[in-house]
Amino acid sequence: MLALQSYENGRKCPVCGMDITFCHDQNKVRQTFKGADVETCFVSEMREQAMRRFADSGEVKAPNSQTTKLSIRNG
Ligand SMILES: [Zn+2]
Repeated sequence: MLALQSYENGRKCPVCGMDITFCHDQNKVRQTFKGADVETCFVSEMREQAMRRFADSGEVKAPNSQTTKLSIRNG
């Protein structure tokens, strides 16, 4: 909730995390960037895999309220 409030009160875009005076201005964005490449965030991939295993294991009562916690590898 605090994160949502921070986004709504701040000037950061909830989609990309940049200042909205920049990312909501198409001319500024096009003057700065020529395009984008597709990359994979392997932390998010790991979280997606955990959520998929959880969903496949049984009934998910609140699919938009579940989150993940990364487990540190020992050694
Ligand atoms: Zn944005």
